[in-house]
Amino acid sequence: MGREQQTKKILFTSVWRPIGPSVGDGESVGYELLHGQVTRAQGIYSPRVVHKQFSLDYIAENLDTPSKVLHYPSKARLRRELQNNYDVVAIAFVLSTSHHAIAMCQLIRSVAPKTKIILGGYGTVMSDEELLPYCDTICREEGVTFMRKYLGQPALDQDNYVHPHIFSRMRIFGIPVSVTGMVFAGLGCPNACDFCCTSHYFKNQHIRLLPTGKSIFDLMHTQRQKYPDCDHTILDEDFLLSKTRAHDFLELCREKQVAFSTFCFASVKALKQYTCDELLEMGIDGVWVGYEGKAAGYEKHRGVNIDEFIKNLQAHGITVLTSMILGIPYQSDEIARAEFDALMETNPSLSQFLIYGPIPGTPFYEKVMKEELMHGDLIKDRRQFYKQCTGFYAMMKHPFLRRDEIEQLQRDFYQRDFEQLGPSIFRIAQIKLNGYLKYRNHANPLLRKKAECFRQKLMTFLAILPCGILGPKISWKHRLAYSKLFIKILGMSSFKEKRYLLGIPVMLGAAAFTWINSKLNLHEHPFTRVFSYLGRKPIVPASPEVEFLGQSPTYESV
Ligand code: SF4
Repeated sequence: MGREQQTKKILFTSVWRPIGPSVGDGESVGYELLHGQVTRAQGIYSPRVVHKQFSLDYIAENLDTPSKVLHYPSKARLRRELQNNYDVVAIAFVLSTSHHAIAMCQLIRSVAPKTKIILGGYGTVMSDEELLPYCDTICREEGVTFMRKYLGQPALDQDNYVHPHIFSRMRIFGIPVSVTGMVFAGLGCPNACDFCCTSHYFKNQHIRLLPTGKSIFDLMHTQRQKYPDCDHTILDEDFLLSKTRAHDFLELCREKQVAFSTFCFASVKALKQYTCDELLEMGIDGVWVGYEGKAAGYEKHRGVNIDEFIKNLQAHGITVLTSMILGIPYQSDEIARAEFDALMETNPSLSQFLIYGPIPGTPFYEKVMKEELMHGDLIKDRRQFYKQCTGFYAMMKHPFLRRDEIEQLQRDFYQRDFEQLGPSIFRIAQIKLNGYLKYRNHANPLLRKKAECFRQKLMTFLAILPCGILGPKISWKHRLAYSKLFIKILGMSSFKEKRYLLGIPVMLGAAAFTWINSKLNLHEHPFTRVFSYLGRKPIVPASPEVEFLGQSPTYESV
């Protein structure tokens, strides 16, 4: 590597803040996935986690040169940072924030005209004609490979990537209740569903960032050394599809008798390869499953009664976040409502309802354009089209439903999900109780250990459940159910664990404070977070340990 490359100053940044509907962005655009797209109708009961642009930290961790990462800088903060004469600024964005990314490019050009600008992220499905007037280069591939190539650094085998140590904190009523270690196991998905941007972006290939069961196990083990009680989220579009990797991971969990608590994304096709016992032995007690449209005929659902499948997972203590699509051409109002009712019967812990939307780069987009199904105003106004690529706008003509009818249906579904099933946080408590009761006396010691994890998690609900019993917008049926659940958990608690009862006034006060905040729209935008990375140390071939290679300070998302 030449000296010039070694000394390049590199800045990575997410889009700036403020973002969100209050500043003219599309619905659900914000800093939080769960609150924005899943528990959005659940008011004060919505669990909150701010998600940063993790990909930037991942890339920064894997360069040979030092770099800096900004998460949600304000315009003034970015302007100030640009005084540092960066050679390269790389911005990650998605379609619905593309107007912010373009405005940032314009600012960079005016403040630091010599700085090279790279645009990356799923927003780069926009065309060259739309993006190149604002930037110098576009990254449309896996980011570490791209950036190392761009900077003239030698190619790295993905097996040798350094995994950054990133943790997220979940808050309920503003109080931190759990820490989650983020596990970046892969990119892309071979299932190639017609609407799926992330699958088609990587040409329906799966890129394994953590290639073996051991690499995943080691990373999670390392995360637990930092936070012994932490949960884990595996970020991989269909984590369980690769049976070999998952089985290696399962064998290690069995051998070491480690009971993790892990959430992952998984298709029905992948999940059905394992028994519930095996999933729980791997520590998988939460899954994000695509429910889509029941009659849409996706290959990943073939041969499975998805409703029974969800019920079975939850009966074993595995919480299910279902993602339903509406506005699929066969869905008349009646059919969409019937599918929704069937989904509600499964009592999912969490639900997402997104409108079938044509995202450039997908086969569905090609079809919509070819058959001239896109609404005329969006064809004329590309910027408006991109702003609406959030899953919250009906963008194409539908055989049975008007645009406003589809969008109203979506609002109804979120509202009814909350009213019928109550807040997700309490649904999750019920599922954990199912798991505990099912496995507490199991012959398999690892599953008994898992049951004990469920029991311990339930103890925190001694402090939280009274907010559901006494709080606003809860039906009497649910208040009664939460009271029974509370008594049951109290009966399972040891003398020491009854200390959680002391948290009741704190939680009630926090819930009241959250209610006031929500009325006044306070704390809508997170603080800017800045991280400096030193660059990789040379890899020591003899060391297989992920933690040994880690360079960066631990990164925590709040
Ligand atoms: S299974 Fe999920 S991630 Fe994979 S292609 Fe389908 S929608 Fe995308």
